[in-house]
Amino acid sequence: MFSVALVRCCGTSAALCSVSLVTDLHLGIDVGGTKILGVILDPSDPREPIAVRRSATPDTVDHVVDSLRDVIEFLRADAGRRGHTVSTIGIGVPGVVDRGGVLRGAPNLLCAVDQPLKDRVEQAVGSPVLVENDANCALWAEAELGVGQGALDIVMVALGTGIGGAVMVDGRLRVGAHGFAGEPGHMVVCRDGVLCPCGRRGCWERYASGAGLAWLAQQAVGRAGETSGASRMVELAGGDPSAIRGEHVTAAADEGDGTALAVFEQFAEWVAVGIGSLINILDPDLVIIGGGLVDQSHHYLDRVRELLPAEVLGAGAHRPTPIAAASMGPMAGAIGAALLASTQRRFR
Ligand SMILES: [Zn+2]
Repeated sequence: MFSVALVRCCGTSAALCSVSLVTDLHLGIDVGGTKILGVILDPSDPREPIAVRRSATPDTVDHVVDSLRDVIEFLRADAGRRGHTVSTIGIGVPGVVDRGGVLRGAPNLLCAVDQPLKDRVEQAVGSPVLVENDANCALWAEAELGVGQGALDIVMVALGTGIGGAVMVDGRLRVGAHGFAGEPGHMVVCRDGVLCPCGRRGCWERYASGAGLAWLAQQAVGRAGETSGASRMVELAGGDPSAIRGEHVTAAADEGDGTALAVFEQFAEWVAVGIGSLINILDPDLVIIGGGLVDQSHHYLDRVRELLPAEVLGAGAHRPTPIAAASMGPMAGAIGAALLASTQRRFR
């Protein structure tokens, strides 16, 4: 993937060399439910993007394609002004993607479901693009540059509004027969449980995500009945228990609110139930917790580690499977998309 620019030419790296040479840069985009983030990476130092472009996520697929084209053209022009070229383009999307680059199931990007996103963006920009699940991209970034370096069998669990996921086996992403592997959020952990947006009941993400945290809090306040007004969570939600969201639970727990801390104890139990099942199936080297709730991991991650041995068969026969917080931050998806598009050894 590298042009002559990455050949050491005078005893220092090309980036520092005074001789101007063209570098092939990698472009990555993370498409979220509300925003699009594009980056370009220099392969000699991919951890720090050399340019970033943000845009809002439109609500029609035509405008999504237009926005992706605009982000790509902006970043290409930026690379050109630096005297470089863009050699590969990767796009991470919030849903399952079939091997033809068609989005199949994306609750946070409904307008693009069943749309040939890969073909449409390629036509718009005149270059090949890789379209891949966003959690797969984030896992790739962690494995290449972050907390997953050195591990070959990794499970990533992204705790956000729902639960995203990705699985690496023997150093490659496990995408399955149709491209849909790695969606642990829809493991059913409670038959006839809480209704999930996917249409079924009792999916893991109804209990162990941001939405699950809010639901657990609402249940706890409901059980408290007349005394519910005493919970700081209700105050933060404007006095309406049904308006409690995950951030209210976090804020109340940060202040030491007893009900909120008890909710996080329950939350840790649900997280451990799901991670324990994943370990039982895959026996990974490492489990990475990502997603927006990684920022609140001080409220539940140690407890999850304590609870896991009881969830894992044969847990006493080896050291506990490490459970690590993701380390690549909010650009992990975009960086991973750029890195994935630039490698040939990504899938199995
Ligand atoms: Zn579901």
